[in-house]
Amino acid sequence: MKHLFCDVCKKEVVDPIPTRTFFSLREFDMCESCRDDLEAAVKYSVRNKKPFDFAWFDKLRVDLVEDGVKKNRISVSKTQR
Ligand SMILES: [Zn+2]
Repeated sequence: MKHLFCDVCKKEVVDPIPTRTFFSLREFDMCESCRDDLEAAVKYSVRNKKPFDFAWFDKLRVDLVEDGVKKNRISVSKTQR
């Protein structure tokens, strides 16, 4: 069995199941809770973006994950929580 570590919080994902308990975005792997944070952060940003643009959306996700890898967590906007 493969041992997998979340690239954001660096915690081990026990018994990783793709799209169930861990999620991949480009070269990054994320655990479920970091993925939830990413989704929340994305949702918050998307609400303020008009018109919607898929290239922008894709870049936003990667930017949030890269930032999360550096900080060991995805930063969800304070007004969101
Ligand atoms: Zn994580």
